[in-house]
Amino acid sequence: MRADPLPVTSSPGPEHNPDASLVVSVGDVEGRVAERRLVRGTTVLDAVAISSAAVPEGGAIDVDLVVEASLDGLAVVGQVTAPWQGECRRCLEPIEGEIEVDVHEIWQRHPEDPEEIWTIVGDQIDLGELVREAVLLSLPLAPLCGSGCRGPDPESFPTDGAHLADEEEGAETGGIDPRWAALSDLTFDD
Ligand SMILES: [Zn+2]
Repeated sequence: MRADPLPVTSSPGPEHNPDASLVVSVGDVEGRVAERRLVRGTTVLDAVAISSAAVPEGGAIDVDLVVEASLDGLAVVGQVTAPWQGECRRCLEPIEGEIEVDVHEIWQRHPEDPEEIWTIVGDQIDLGELVREAVLLSLPLAPLCGSGCRGPDPESFPTDGAHLADEEEGAETGGIDPRWAALSDLTFDD
């Protein structure tokens, strides 16, 4: 058990309570082609985080999915929307946003490739892990507060001219390797 530094609250944390509303009974769907179940609502998942961004604790994740039976399994299609917060990669100021993830996943009893296809076990599928994975894979890897962000200290450390300085240095040493020349036309202020 991990030590929990947070004060004890009356409601147990979501990490101890996977969201039962995302566990879908498929016994009466599976094998009946085009039979569908709608899964709509909001859920809270703990610790949906990567190093650069995270869903805030208690953040409501909107789930709008359809489970539909096909000839060889179940398709889960729809959209998941989640709030996120993180730090601007340049100025390190806190920023937040919302991601919308299109979901298109397949579940089968005996998938040939369990890395790509989810495995149906018993009569239920737990969309909680699918939602978690969809959000995790869509969190921004290098968030930026705005395309014009000039970093924490533009006077001392201008970020705008960084690639120009590299070009000058290349010129002094006899020019840029032609294989990389195209890169100098790129700007990184996306
Ligand atoms: Zn910034």
